[in-house]
Amino acid sequence: MNKVIIQECKDYSVDDIIVKINNGMERLGGWDKFVKTGNVVLLKVNLIGPKSSDSAAVTHSEFVRALTRILKNKGCTVWIGDSSGGAIAGIAPTAQGFKVTGYDKVAEEEGAIIKNFDREGVFEVQPHGKFKEKMYLAKPLFDADVVINVPKLKTHSANIYTGAVKNVFGCIPGLRKAMYHKMAPDKEDFGEILADIHEAAKFDLHIMDGIISMQGEGPTAGTVYKSNKILISTDPLALDTIAVNMLGMMLDDIPVLSAAKKRNLGQYNPDEIEIVGDYNYIPHLEGFKLPKNFRSTKQKNNKSVIKVIDFFKTKPEINKKKCKQCNMCVESCPVKAIDVSTKKIDYNKCIECMCCHELCMHKAVELKKDNVIAGIIARLSV
Ligand code: SF4
Ligand code: SF4
Repeated sequence: MNKVIIQECKDYSVDDIIVKINNGMERLGGWDKFVKTGNVVLLKVNLIGPKSSDSAAVTHSEFVRALTRILKNKGCTVWIGDSSGGAIAGIAPTAQGFKVTGYDKVAEEEGAIIKNFDREGVFEVQPHGKFKEKMYLAKPLFDADVVINVPKLKTHSANIYTGAVKNVFGCIPGLRKAMYHKMAPDKEDFGEILADIHEAAKFDLHIMDGIISMQGEGPTAGTVYKSNKILISTDPLALDTIAVNMLGMMLDDIPVLSAAKKRNLGQYNPDEIEIVGDYNYIPHLEGFKLPKNFRSTKQKNNKSVIKVIDFFKTKPEINKKKCKQCNMCVESCPVKAIDVSTKKIDYNKCIECMCCHELCMHKAVELKKDNVIAGIIARLSV
C-alpha cells in the first residue's frame, strides 16, 4: 500500500519543520533510503512567479530552508530549482522570483545553489503518451542524483487544484510552457503533458508545503488559509488524492489529474492509501474556500485561453545595437537556433527556453510581443 504521511505543523519555525519532516521520513524508511552523503539533491520548488513566501503562492522559503538544512547535514549538495516562465513586460520573472520569495537568501545562508531552469540548458525527451512532440526539460533534473518535488498546497481557478502532479510543469523552461497550454487546451489533455514529465524525469520524493495554503482563486490571486500540514509521499498521485480530499473534493473533480490516474502514475483510491504520521485519517480543512468555478468549468476546456496566449505571445529577439558579439547566446542555445554572424533567431528551431535572454550580460536579448497592442498593454501594466 502506498503511504502518505500527514504531519501537523503550526508555523514556519525551521526547527519544528525539520522535526516534522524527519519524523515523517522515518515512516518511509528514513532519509538514508533516499539520499547518501555526497549526493546532489535538487529541490524542485513551486516558484510560480515573483511572489512573497507569505502570499502562499509559492513554496515557503523557510520550508525550503528546513529541507536544505536537513540535506546539508547529511553531506548533500543542495540545488533549489524552478522556472516561472512567461514574461512580465519583456523580462523573464524566474530570477526575480528567486529574490522575492527569499530563496536567494536561503541559498546564500544555507550553502545551497540556485538553479534557474531558464539558464541551465535542456534535456530532450520523447513522451510516450497522447502527444508525441519532443519535450525539452530542465537539465538539472537529469544531472542531480536525487530530485525532490516540493509543491505548495493551492487551489487553481482554472484547474481547481494544484499540487504534486501539477508542480512539475515548471520543469519546462522559459516561454515554452505557453506552447503546451496551446497544444493541450483541454484540462485532461494538459494532464497528459504533466504525466509525460513525471514519466520522463525521476522524482524520488514529494514533500508538500501545506503549512499555509492558498484558497479561493489560486494559484496566485487567492487568499491565505492556515492549514498547518506537511504531506510526504513517494507517490505524487496518492499525495494529491489525499490533499484534494482534505480540501473537500474527490480526485475525479480535478480533470487535470485524470491522465495521471489513467496512466497509473500512482494510487488514486483513498482506501488503498495508507495514511500515517500525525493522522491516520484524512483531516478535513474546515471552511477552506474552493475556486468559484469549481464544478461549473469541469466540462469546459481552455480554448478561449489560446486566444489570450496568441495575443500575448512573446519571443526572444536580439537587439543588434546592444549586442557586443560575445556569442554567449549562440553557444548556450541548446538547439543552435541563433546564427553566429547575423544573430538572427530561427523561430522554427527555437524552443523558447530563455537561456539566451537569461545569459546575455548586455541585455541585448529582448522579449518581444508578437502583437503590438499586447506589447503596449504589457508596458502599461507595469
Ligand atoms: S549574448 Fe548578448 S551580447 Fe553576446 S552575442 Fe548574444 S546577444 Fe550579443
Ligand atoms: S534562441 Fe535558443 S537559447 Fe534563445 S530561447 Fe530560443 S532555443 Fe532558447
